[in-house]
Amino acid sequence: AKAAGRNRFAVFEPAMHEQVVAQTQLVRDLRTAAGSGQFSLLYQPQVDLRSGRITGAEALARWHHPLHGLVLPDTFIPVAESSGTIDLIDDWALGEACRQLAGWDAAGLPRLQVAVNISARRLARGDLADTVRSSARAAGVDPARLEVEITETATTSCADEAARTLQEVRALGVSIAIDDFGTGHSSFGRLRVLPVDRLKIDRSFVAALDGRAGAGSIAGAMVAMGRSLGLDVVAEGVETAEQLDALRALGCSSVQGWLFGRPVPADEIASLVRAAPPV
Ligand code: C2E
Ligand code: CA
Ligand code: CA
Ligand code: CA
Repeated sequence: AKAAGRNRFAVFEPAMHEQVVAQTQLVRDLRTAAGSGQFSLLYQPQVDLRSGRITGAEALARWHHPLHGLVLPDTFIPVAESSGTIDLIDDWALGEACRQLAGWDAAGLPRLQVAVNISARRLARGDLADTVRSSARAAGVDPARLEVEITETATTSCADEAARTLQEVRALGVSIAIDDFGTGHSSFGRLRVLPVDRLKIDRSFVAALDGRAGAGSIAGAMVAMGRSLGLDVVAEGVETAEQLDALRALGCSSVQGWLFGRPVPADEIASLVRAAPPV
């Protein structure tokens, strides 16, 4: 048993060591990346089901690492969150999204909305409204064209503080969306007191709308809950026409997903908006 134990160590130790080194290096790289143009935003269209038109887009960060190439958020966001670099990334994303809004305006597009993801940690810092205000002002756009997406978890830790910050942000006209709705712990009572405008149904519940009868009842309950609170309900991860039909029947207000478009560079959003309405 002892030999086996040693053996196990011999096998696992270098790998673990490498992982720690890689992680440490990633943290270091992230710090430099934030200020040196290695991030970009892709935009995924959001379609309003009442008008059938693209009314806005969600901004999704990408990291172009000088050595490793494209790094996806599922890899770098957790590292950025645990190392504190996330504040820099989220603030950069807010600024960049505002500049892009101004860019689309200059290109003659109808006034689009942009949703920016803000991590729990950035929200907890308490000065989000200042950053939103100054980013919008610097780009010359109305903050009311911004949406901030936060997860349910972000609103439950430091609940009062988070609610106050969200109120300040919302007072600027920014709309507040609860992201990945249904995967966290928000209760009906909590949602009622939070300054929230939209619920984004997590794509796992949208996926359940395919096939089997009854499997979509969770999404149905979520739409009903949102509507009874007077909130817009957005479905994310819509991939099939079948899901779209079901969401429409449920009374969902907007949709987002590969069925309408993957996250793309800003100029491709312009072409999508100029093309015929997707639904
Ligand atoms: P999220 O906010 O839930 O974003 C939706 C994710 O689902 C995106 O992954 C998007 O590319 C993907 N997606 C969209 N439509 C579909 C679909 O139809 N099917 C499937 N299977 N996937 C779809 P992405 O871009 O890799 O982002 C992952 C997560 O990273 C985001 O999840 C968000 O939580 C986080 N993130 C991205 N950018 C930022 C940022 O600037 N700041 C912060 N704090 N988090 C960010
Ligand atoms: Ca999101
Ligand atoms: Ca989401
Ligand atoms: Ca997510």
